[in-house]
Amino acid sequence: MVTQFDVVVVGAGIVGCACAARLAREGLSVCVVDPSPPGSGATAAGMGHLVVMDDSAAQLELTIASLRLWLDLLPTLPRSAETISPGTLWVAEDEAGMEAVESKRTLYANAGVAAQTWGPARVHEGEPVLRPVAGALHVPGDCVVYPPTIAAKLLADSRATLVQATATAINGDGCETSQGLLRTRWVVNCAGARATDFAPLPIQPRKGHLAITERRPGFLRHQVVELGYLASAHGSDEASVAFNVQPRATGQVLIGSSREFAGWDPAIRRTMLAKMIARAVSFVPELATLHVVRSWVGFRAATNDHLPVIGPIPDQPSHIVAAGHEGLGITTSLATAELVAHHVCGVEPVISPEPYLPGRFAA
Ligand SMILES: Cc1cc2nc3c(=O)[nH]c(=O)nc-3n(C[C@H](O)[C@H](O)[C@H](O)COP(=O)(O)OP(=O)(O)OC[C@H]3O[C@@H](n4cnc5c(N)ncnc54)[C@H](O)[C@@H]3O)c2cc1C
Repeated sequence: MVTQFDVVVVGAGIVGCACAARLAREGLSVCVVDPSPPGSGATAAGMGHLVVMDDSAAQLELTIASLRLWLDLLPTLPRSAETISPGTLWVAEDEAGMEAVESKRTLYANAGVAAQTWGPARVHEGEPVLRPVAGALHVPGDCVVYPPTIAAKLLADSRATLVQATATAINGDGCETSQGLLRTRWVVNCAGARATDFAPLPIQPRKGHLAITERRPGFLRHQVVELGYLASAHGSDEASVAFNVQPRATGQVLIGSSREFAGWDPAIRRTMLAKMIARAVSFVPELATLHVVRSWVGFRAATNDHLPVIGPIPDQPSHIVAAGHEGLGITTSLATAELVAHHVCGVEPVISPEPYLPGRFAA
């Protein structure tokens, strides 16, 4: 098989599918290659929290830009996208935490993101199952979705050709696959933590456990996250858990999350799972009355500076990378696709592409 396309996208996760949809809108012929069903990698394993995050100025800008795109897309999605808009409660355990709440609120206000500080009584009124805390930051604009069905929908909308094969090399001719060569002008490498199979990038799999409960509609009203979550996410390379619970459209509660570097080991570690659930129960004691019906692990694609890699490989301008989104790839997929469209077809970038370029690692 030798076939010719304008663009070949490697990987049918949410990032690859968003890129395919965006590039197709520019009138390009697009082929997506993946041996697995669309949205079945990290995209199927994540929490689906569409969230503004402020670990760095570049992360804040990327998440805000992407959230705006999501707000346009969400009303067009089918019920299977399981969209709900619970907002996020960033919980402070003590007075030091409340100082962090205030600086986060100021940062968000300066960036035009609605957010209010809630004292303990307001938190109790808004989220009665939460144990008494010092307060919280309420971010009403954050949403929750079910990512795999959205990936499949974006792919269907793109009318891209889906080739069920494994990409084996990206070179000047195009993309070599287990089914033959796909000739193309550009290859967009959206292989998640496997993007390193095609380019020397500092991306590695970061394992995460999740657990989901039986249905109890109305149990939880917000996505509730401890303020220390960012420290767990980015503070150290040690294995860690953080309190992060999410109401699902089904009435279930999704409990997260853990982080560890353990290669591609797919085993569920019962000690890690127990630690994660105990942390959640320490904040929401009544969670102990719900049965966990399923638990699983997934692999985030982590970079060493916690920003995704989006743009052409230096000296290989037709190989565009869009990978390394760690724990924010659902949120940032749409803005990533915009930046990819900028690199491929020169469309006006929604934000500065600079912080995400692969060339930053060369230095
Ligand atoms: C526990 C956990 C919780 C998370 N929670 C959230 C959250 O709440 N909000 C959020 O925004 N993000 C979250 N994430 C992160 C998010 O899930 C990922 O960042 C996102 O799914 C990445 O999408 P992707 O398309 O880059 O990768 P993937 O979904 O992994 O897709 C990559 C695809 O590439 C394919 N592939 C690999 N190698 C090849 C090859 N050689 N040839 C062809 N195809 C190939 C794979 O089969 C796969 O389908 C979470 C992740 C985890 C693990």
